[in-house]
Amino acid sequence: MAIEASYKLSGVMGWPVAHSRSPVIHNHWIAHHGLKGAYVLLPVQPENLEQALRALPVLGFAGCNLTIPHKVEALRLVDRVDHLAARIGAINTIVVEADQSLTGRNTDAFGYIESLRDAQPHWEADAGPAVVIGAGGAARAVIVSLIDQGAREIRLTNRSWAKAHDMAQEFGAPVNAIAWEDRHDALAGAALLVNTTNQGMQGEAPLDLRLDQLSLDALVSDIIYVPMETPLLSAARRHGNDTVNGLGMLLNQARPAFEAWFGVSPGITPDLLRQVRATF
Ligand code: NAP
Repeated sequence: MAIEASYKLSGVMGWPVAHSRSPVIHNHWIAHHGLKGAYVLLPVQPENLEQALRALPVLGFAGCNLTIPHKVEALRLVDRVDHLAARIGAINTIVVEADQSLTGRNTDAFGYIESLRDAQPHWEADAGPAVVIGAGGAARAVIVSLIDQGAREIRLTNRSWAKAHDMAQEFGAPVNAIAWEDRHDALAGAALLVNTTNQGMQGEAPLDLRLDQLSLDALVSDIIYVPMETPLLSAARRHGNDTVNGLGMLLNQARPAFEAWFGVSPGITPDLLRQVRATF
């Protein structure tokens, strides 16, 4: 009975989900901290999402992560959503509360900012304009994170104009929508450039962006982590800029989720990095 009470399950719910690196990260922490439990893959089709979420407390789960395509739909299905996740409009973490209810959170914004600070400990959001390329789900977490860190100007550009325009309207100042055709010139004077599109991901074309206007002081980040160095990051490195890949965001978004489920604040150690990198 004592063993059962201390054994905790968590996992990642998605469809497809087999590619997820989250089990490697969380199971490493479970072992490292000598905890009893497991983090498992939860392949759940969209039409079964509600049933699967309601089963979490019954099956003894402390919670779970959500990935494609469930992050937005799950927000509607849980019992409460914290303020940050509501602003982002998506949840990536569910915590099963003591009364068996489900709380939805979003740790992607935290993960993104921590990844920048891991690369540049003195990074400040108000150092200068940020250019965000892409206006999909991940862009929402990145934009909210930059606003909350005090960014004073965010230039948002997206292939489909309406999404960038609507997002700028929704978040208000400091977000300004910039036409896709003007994205190259939008880099002038920027302190941060971030790619949140899927362009440059394995199997996709490189992001179509010229860096000639970009200052050498600008930090260039790409939230893609397969490959770890996208064509954008190689071009930025050749141009002379500091770069940050998406692996840091992935690792750091996992930290608050693990702490919520297992009560231990985990770290990103060289050993963990080695294990995760070995999966690529
Ligand atoms: P999403 O909601 O589907 O958004 C995709 C974005 O890419 C949209 O802005 C879309 O523009 C743009 N795009 C697609 N094809 C394009 C093209 N040919 N040219 C220009 N733009 C194009 O996807 P998401 O969930 O935001 O994910 C985006 C990326 O972030 C993925 O690569 C994902 O792996 C990565 N990600 C990483 C982390 C991490 O922890 N590191 C977390 C979340 C996501 P339109 O609006 O015009 O279609």
